[in-house]
Order: sequence, then structure tokens, then C-alpha cells
Amino acid sequence: MPEKTKQVFPVQVDYVCDKCGQGNMLPAGACLTSYPPQFGHICEHCGHAQYLGSQYPFIRYVEGRFAHGTIADPSRDNSHVVTAAYPIVFVQDPPSAP
Ligand SMILES: [Zn+2]
Repeated sequence: MPEKTKQVFPVQVDYVCDKCGQGNMLPAGACLTSYPPQFGHICEHCGHAQYLGSQYPFIRYVEGRFAHGTIADPSRDNSHVVTAAYPIVFVQDPPSAP
């Protein structure tokens, strides 16, 4: 089979605290060597401790495409609209019709 490629985008996956709903869960360094393993986390906001089945945050690759567009520049008080010379806006492809 020949190789083929497609464009994908890295996204960061965070786990929001089940207790306070505000902070992200961060690795606490502990791991239970169960099957599957459980990773210890602590909420960055309230300190809630919880074991989770993945270690957060992690990077996931998703399919999508770039589109040309303009954005406000937050480094300049959002007052300057920057026209992208290179596509920078992520747009998820709509589901294909059956
Ligand atoms: Zn919390």
C-alpha cells in the first residue's frame, strides 16, 4: 500500500475538575499500576485530588483544515486586526453527508 498523508492539528486536551468545575487537573506524579493504569491529578484551582485514566494535559491530533481569515491581536489590546498572511484559523470539517 502506498503512503498517503493528510493534514492534522495538535490540540491540548485538559480535564476540568469534577469538584469545582473551574480548574484544570494537573499531574501529581503518582501512578497506580493497575490495568488500566490510573494517574494521580490535583486541581490547580481547589486542590481536589483524583485518579484519572489518562495523564492530563495531553496532545491529541484532530482532522481539520485551515481557512484564511482575520483575528484581533490580543498582544495589542485586540484593537489591531491582523490579516493572516498564512492560514491560521482552525475549522473542523463538517461531517460528510451519508
Ligand atoms: Zn477543582
